[in-house]
Amino acid sequence: MQTTNSTPPIDLLIVGAGFGGLYMLHTARQRGLTALVVEAAGGVGGTWYHNRYPGARVDIQSLEYSFGFDDALQQDWCWTERYAAQPELLAYANHMADRYALRDGILLDTRIATAHWDEAALCWQVAAQDGRHWSARHLVLATGPLSTPNQPDFPGLQEFKGRVLHTAAWPHEPVDLAGLRVGVVGTGSSGVQTITTLAPEVAQLTVFQRTPSYAVPAHNGPLDKALEAQVKADYPAFRERNRRTMGGFGSMLPPNTFSALSVSADERERMFEERWQIGGFGLLGTFNDLIVNPVANELAGEFVRNKIRSIVKDPATAAALCPTHPIGCKRLCVDTGYYATFNRPNVRLVDLQAAPIERFTASGLVAGGVEHTLDAIVLATGFDAMTGTLLRLDLRGRGGRRIQDHWQAGPLNYLGLCLSGFPNLFTLTGPGATAAFTNVIVAIEHQVQWIADTLTDLRARGVRTLEATPEAEADWVAHVNAVAARTIYLGCNSWYLGANIPGKPRIFMPLFGFPAYVQKCADVQQQGYAGFQLAPAVP
Ligand code: NAP
Repeated sequence: MQTTNSTPPIDLLIVGAGFGGLYMLHTARQRGLTALVVEAAGGVGGTWYHNRYPGARVDIQSLEYSFGFDDALQQDWCWTERYAAQPELLAYANHMADRYALRDGILLDTRIATAHWDEAALCWQVAAQDGRHWSARHLVLATGPLSTPNQPDFPGLQEFKGRVLHTAAWPHEPVDLAGLRVGVVGTGSSGVQTITTLAPEVAQLTVFQRTPSYAVPAHNGPLDKALEAQVKADYPAFRERNRRTMGGFGSMLPPNTFSALSVSADERERMFEERWQIGGFGLLGTFNDLIVNPVANELAGEFVRNKIRSIVKDPATAAALCPTHPIGCKRLCVDTGYYATFNRPNVRLVDLQAAPIERFTASGLVAGGVEHTLDAIVLATGFDAMTGTLLRLDLRGRGGRRIQDHWQAGPLNYLGLCLSGFPNLFTLTGPGATAAFTNVIVAIEHQVQWIADTLTDLRARGVRTLEATPEAEADWVAHVNAVAARTIYLGCNSWYLGANIPGKPRIFMPLFGFPAYVQKCADVQQQGYAGFQLAPAVP
């Protein structure tokens, strides 16, 4: 693999060696395209390389959160748990790299700094921070939707003498917090898993909560061998059934097709309880209107709040743990005893709405005028999601237009895949696509195959550049927001809206509804790439 300006350019430069980058490389090679993956980290795996915090595990069942493009892979690979933990997911990514002999196409420890469209050569000129550079006809940004950690600018944080850890940049060596007084800031999916796992290990755990989360039980455990055999006997059809669901998973527990308002209160309670006992995201499929009807949604929210009140013994703590926003509006957490953790004598909750963080000190932090003495702080404060990583690149399109200017008012894109003014560039799992609401591996398989089909097709027709039109882009962003407006997703401050990052444009970034998205992408291809300019144009 050439690692200097290549003549001719390589077909594809892929940024990121997570699941998206690995599958893009494999698919490109299968289609006879030359491709190189450049990855900033020291290993493959993306999300599962970096997020090594205590208790990190996937919240979609392992049998679903896995690739289906190769039947031999899905038959050979054996998951050990219903919800795989981070080390097993990282092993799976490494297995893919080895199984498909991808490693000679991946440069690790190499951070891309600049990518500029070269109008004369009709290719991307891409340079790494270390000065190496490449020319590529196409650029695939497989940088992931959740890859730039959000580290809030807390006053005095640098004065804190203890250890500061971020869940999304957890050290590779073991971190021993046993016997320490630990504070966790943040109670999203990462915080919920960290808090539950750390509580029994540490001397004292103080949870700093700004917004309470809804969490449903995972009921994790060893993978049911009978279920595994049943799924493996029917894996292609199982995958197909999942692809037809709104989120690319959950076909084992399909959503019901009637309203929460169409049954009696007793029946509703019984049905919520049934799904609570099964565990996982299926609670939101108890009725068909929980995501679109605020009245129905409130009934589901109250069901979980009643669970919190019944689990958490101290009424004041229980009240502070009860969310008031619509359930599902922020990503639902899937937990293993999260609320019960607050019954432990060594765990206490600080409600930042009543007592905001004022500053950090050498020995802890002050919130609401009270100093909390801590030996270590875990920031579970999430990500500058969907756009954060790309906006930190020096990425320039036609005429030197900077991505920072193009996205000043929010991430303009078409199909969640392409940008006007940035020819031959593709984002995987980016804004405007369904990845945030979808089993991300299913989303990756679809987008990679769409990109590969497009490149193969356009190469056969002699097309050199593909570029979204500004009109198609504007219409697409309006469509994404119109779909969200028909749901409860605009009803809270989520990372979907960019609301977790001060100053970020407030625009709904992910698209809800995987099957309609797949259909739209297929239609665009069948209509000769409607919404794109092709050059030279196809006769
Ligand atoms: P997150 O959902 O954005 O949660 C971040 C938490 O930090 C929130 O509680 C947030 O409060 C709090 N926070 C942020 N800035 C703060 C500040 N300045 N002061 C106090 N609190 C602050 O991030 P995450 O938990 O890392 O999860 C992000 C996404 O990653 C998830 O939604 C999910 O899609 C994915 N994820 C998945 C898994 C899994 O598969 N099991 C695990 C982890 C993450 P506010 O809510 O008030 O902003």
